[in-house]
Amino acid sequence: MKKRKEIVSIKITIHGLVQGVGFRPFIYRLANDFALTGNVCNNNSGVTIRIEGPASAIDQFLHQLPAQAPIQSNIRSIHTEKMPPQGFRTFQITVSQEGSKNITQISPDIAVCEACLSDRKQQAHRLTYPFINCTNCGPRFSIITALPYDRDKTTMHLFHMCETCQTEYNHINDRRYHAQPIACNQCGPHYELITPTGKTHNYQEVISSAVNLIKQGEIIAIKGVGGFHLGCDALNDSALEQLRHHKKRSSKPLAVLFPNSESLCQYAYFSASEQTLLESWQRPIVLLQHRNKLPVEITRGLNTIGAFLPYMPIHYDLFEQFQNPIVLTSGNISDEPICITNSSAQKQLRSITTHFITHNRIIHNRVDDSVAMVVNDTPRILRRSRGYSPAPIETTLQVEGLLATGAELSNTFAIGKESQVILSQHIGDLKNYETFRFYEETINRYQQLFQFQPQLVIHDLHPDYNSILFAEKSGLPSLAVQHHHAHIAACMAEHELDEKVMGVAFDGTGYGTDGNSWGSEFMICDLSGFDRLNHFEYFPLPGGDAAIKEPWRIGLSLLHHCFGDEWTKLKLPFLENIPPYQINTIIQAIQQHINTPLTCSAGRLFDAVAAITGLCLTSDFHAQAPMLLESVINREIHDHYRSSLSTPLPFKPILKGVITDIHKKEPIGTISARFHNTICQIIIEQLKITRDHLHLNKVALSGGCFQNGFILTKLEKELKNNRFEVYTHSAVPANDGGISLGQILIAAKKQTRCV
Ligand code: ZN
Ligand code: ZN
Ligand code: FE
Repeated sequence: MKKRKEIVSIKITIHGLVQGVGFRPFIYRLANDFALTGNVCNNNSGVTIRIEGPASAIDQFLHQLPAQAPIQSNIRSIHTEKMPPQGFRTFQITVSQEGSKNITQISPDIAVCEACLSDRKQQAHRLTYPFINCTNCGPRFSIITALPYDRDKTTMHLFHMCETCQTEYNHINDRRYHAQPIACNQCGPHYELITPTGKTHNYQEVISSAVNLIKQGEIIAIKGVGGFHLGCDALNDSALEQLRHHKKRSSKPLAVLFPNSESLCQYAYFSASEQTLLESWQRPIVLLQHRNKLPVEITRGLNTIGAFLPYMPIHYDLFEQFQNPIVLTSGNISDEPICITNSSAQKQLRSITTHFITHNRIIHNRVDDSVAMVVNDTPRILRRSRGYSPAPIETTLQVEGLLATGAELSNTFAIGKESQVILSQHIGDLKNYETFRFYEETINRYQQLFQFQPQLVIHDLHPDYNSILFAEKSGLPSLAVQHHHAHIAACMAEHELDEKVMGVAFDGTGYGTDGNSWGSEFMICDLSGFDRLNHFEYFPLPGGDAAIKEPWRIGLSLLHHCFGDEWTKLKLPFLENIPPYQINTIIQAIQQHINTPLTCSAGRLFDAVAAITGLCLTSDFHAQAPMLLESVINREIHDHYRSSLSTPLPFKPILKGVITDIHKKEPIGTISARFHNTICQIIIEQLKITRDHLHLNKVALSGGCFQNGFILTKLEKELKNNRFEVYTHSAVPANDGGISLGQILIAAKKQTRCV
């Protein structure tokens, strides 16, 4: 017992997400609670604590540290070592140290917290202040220009703290102690409303005028945390029509901001886990089943909406005076990156609106809203951006110096730092010139921000991908990775798997080693390589990628593939509205092999069935056909069509089932359910065969098709019921947004084998 009173002195090194999340003040208070002395400081690799006091108090301090750490922090490791006693008299927060080769993490942006919302009703200098923040909330990644995280390395360095803010910033027991973006009405950023009739800086006027405009059915551009939004009344049909028309977004889902979960409850169904995700500090857009109470201009045939809750004070203020849900969609024209500067917004969005709410806090890093859904009670990130980026993903391999350039669509890139992969925020479609520029700029920025020196550039096999251009231009050694192998590796990385698994990669497209477009892959793979076990048959895609916008072409081609010239006798109504010359052109192109690359993509099968059933003949946005098909499923139907498990997997039995039901005039919901059930059945039966032959039991599911909530829900449950060990995506998208993570792991594995 006597020994526990002995004074000890230790040095604690903490790695992980511990900067910009109120970690040092937390340590200070914890040390004071146990009457310990010493100091804490940030360095480039995390936080260092030197602490001295009775052994028992230090034990308790070490015990409480991980348990009470700020909610946004993420401790990766705690290393302790004994030091000779230093004779500290107090506990202090000391100045940041630079110089370590390592780099710590950057906190994602955090939704405004409850304590700040209440402060802006009480604190004289912050009454209604819309840029209020504290050590637990506010902008982070979007304003950080360099590390370590201090005010002069954020875009807040332009604002000189007033005396009151400075006092709070310096006062250890204040909630804003060392809150780098600290600000108030006197000294911080402010909003400005710009309309054709004038400007105002008065915040109350900004809000009341904005509400009036929204009530009148106008569209407003509003500068947010990581970019501009376009907002309008979600219950006003003509405003929605205008928005869709000018944004050139005819059917693509529009995200809707609701005042609170009570209001959201009137419009959508959500479970406890969906509510937790909606109310989390990341505040993503969450896909929820709606109650058919929103205008069709929003839902456009889909049974889900993208809903989110307020995360900036201005959102709360708008809802003080306006209770309807507000559409808040990204401030861009079609596929371009969202606008982040006041001048670019006023230039690029002027065809959509002449009303702008801007502010003078510079957005340094562009971050879109994140999108997620919940399947089998687990959150699934579909677009990883605000609130999540650039928090790293821990891996079991050394990934230092690896730069993965990602895929073409829904691009993210990734950099490797020691054993962590830092996945970029959602970049978008690299075929768009402006997006490609954003991509190049962001890669350069990450190199500087994270002190990253690329040694090896990893890219997709596809010869036409823009990411290859980047890899070639870099002049660095490069490595090509097959798309679906990268998908499965991304899923394995999430679960720290480094062994042989059965991989199922179902998606829209990915370049195969035979030069064809793959996308229904049953593989045996590990991080070193893969064997392709089975896939659907190849069939011609008339016009190549152009066919994706016209699923009727895909439907026609698949019918011709399965039934030859007999397809004309099937008398399917979906072709009745297509001019015969167009049909003939497609058939001729197929027969003469003109621009008809081969594909076995599962995504294209969904497109074909959506077309053949007459549900979606032309597609306005990526994956519209499969999303519509999923939306109409009758969940009471549990049977499936006949299928065959030969190699390759044939389409004909599935199509026969669909066509018989069309002829029987079965409702579309029944056909869709049977089709989806068939896909699940094929996957389960194929995996059972593989398991029996190869004595493997772990299954990794990846690829865009596993964003289909119906398929993922059913498949995960049924595979588990069949005693498979099932691995699916949660923290990283199943779509091409996860490809860069898989690429980096495959390269890392190759390097370890070469050493
Ligand atoms: Zn706060
Ligand atoms: Zn101030
Ligand atoms: Fe893919």
